[in-house]
Amino acid sequence: MAEKPTYEELTQRVKELENEKLQASALKSHLMQSDQWLSDKIDSKKSTIPSPTDLDLGSIINVEEIQSIMDDFCAITHMVTAILDLKGNIIEATGWQDICTKFHRINPETAHNCTESDLFLSKNLQAGEYVDYKCKNGMTDVVTPLYVGSKHIGNLFTGQFFYDDEVIDEKVFAQQAEKYGFDKKSYMEALRVVPRYSRTTINHLMSFLVKFATYISRISLANNQLEQEIHERKRVEEEIRTLNRELELRVSHRTVALKEASKELEDFVYSISHDLRAPLRSISGFSQIIARRHKDALNEEGQHYFDNIIEASRQMGNLIDDLLEFSRLGRKSLRAETIKINEIIKQAIDTLKDQIQEKNAAITYPDEMPQITVDPTLLNQILINLLENAVKYTRPGVRPIIDIKFKQSDEFLLLCIADNGLGILPEFHQKIFKMFQRLHHQTDYPGTGIGLAAVKKAAQMMGGDVSVDSELGKGSVFTVKLPIKQLKIEN
Ligand code: ADP
Repeated sequence: MAEKPTYEELTQRVKELENEKLQASALKSHLMQSDQWLSDKIDSKKSTIPSPTDLDLGSIINVEEIQSIMDDFCAITHMVTAILDLKGNIIEATGWQDICTKFHRINPETAHNCTESDLFLSKNLQAGEYVDYKCKNGMTDVVTPLYVGSKHIGNLFTGQFFYDDEVIDEKVFAQQAEKYGFDKKSYMEALRVVPRYSRTTINHLMSFLVKFATYISRISLANNQLEQEIHERKRVEEEIRTLNRELELRVSHRTVALKEASKELEDFVYSISHDLRAPLRSISGFSQIIARRHKDALNEEGQHYFDNIIEASRQMGNLIDDLLEFSRLGRKSLRAETIKINEIIKQAIDTLKDQIQEKNAAITYPDEMPQITVDPTLLNQILINLLENAVKYTRPGVRPIIDIKFKQSDEFLLLCIADNGLGILPEFHQKIFKMFQRLHHQTDYPGTGIGLAAVKKAAQMMGGDVSVDSELGKGSVFTVKLPIKQLKIEN
């Protein structure tokens, strides 16, 4: 059989689990609440968006739309246009001259001339600039580059024309026809229909095309960034969803493990407290018998030792009683009953009548108080603990004045117990609800440090809570929050 864990091991395990649960919950709420985190994450990704080196020009511009604009442009101006990527692939082409389509682009050698001169000349162009040049096949071409961000991704061409102030040497073309095996007659006819433009006309037309190229570049960049941003956002959102799922799973596993460990700890405390009771009874009982029967044989010092043993046994008995009371809470199944709060207050005052009388304490509460559905035993325990403390923790000689009030909201009933006692420093307002937190000296104010932990546990078992507002030397107000609608059973 597996060995029973020790008390230290169990408390250590509960502590570790509580810590892990806290960390997981903190991270979870951080993730869920932090819009800033999401946008920061996306922003940080944005700065690492790669420049579009591998962008395929055809996929980032709307080829059909541009083709249709260029067709209109050609119909009005009769100018040839072409958009080529950096490898020389034609993305868009409009109104090309026969001399190019039927001859220069057909023969592999002259076609190579076309691509080579296109690429060479456009290489060092800046966005917004254009250059005109004679291609290796003897035609005038003009080119302006297309950029996406800072990346040159293609070129916008016009050309296949002559300037009207140019003298065309037909002999050169006739030699070309022979060299490349073109049908001379139709080649020379195609040459003669090549249009001629004035330099001013070309200037105007190119000014338009340069602006158009800049516009395409800007739109392409925006589209690319948008697409990447959408992609990145989706990826980050999915990452967050996965993280949240993982965290929820972890939190729920931890919660189950924590509940099991706490239950184990309670069982341990319960059985050990029981086991301690019997030997303690013997120690206490026999000490009292010896002290009484052998009174005459004991000197003052011996009597003093026996008194100490008896007092220590009494304190230990109280501790065991409180521990048993606390661990019984965890084993208790809830019972819902609708009762008037005054009734439970009366019962608690009755239980404490000796202490109240001894200190001449005054306890006031409203004559009319609402009904509420609670576990009456738990509420009774809560009130006994809080009232006992309110009576106990006062300065010597000061009459305890305790006033109980209630406040009601849609969901909760707040029961406020105000005293004129010693008060509690702010740094202990949370801590005193943990086990064994004691702020006063045992000899002046005997106690076990378990009462408020039990109060908290009982309130939480009913779906409520407890808190304190207090100032040192000015008294305290303990507020018990209880759900109104129905008793929430949290076993
Ligand atoms: P116990 O009273 O048995 O020591 P509790 O858990 O009830 O244990 O209280 C924890 C500690 O909180 C007490 O030891 C005491 O120092 C402080 N305390 C509780 N109630 C009051 C109060 N009404 N006024 C001042 N101090 C209080």
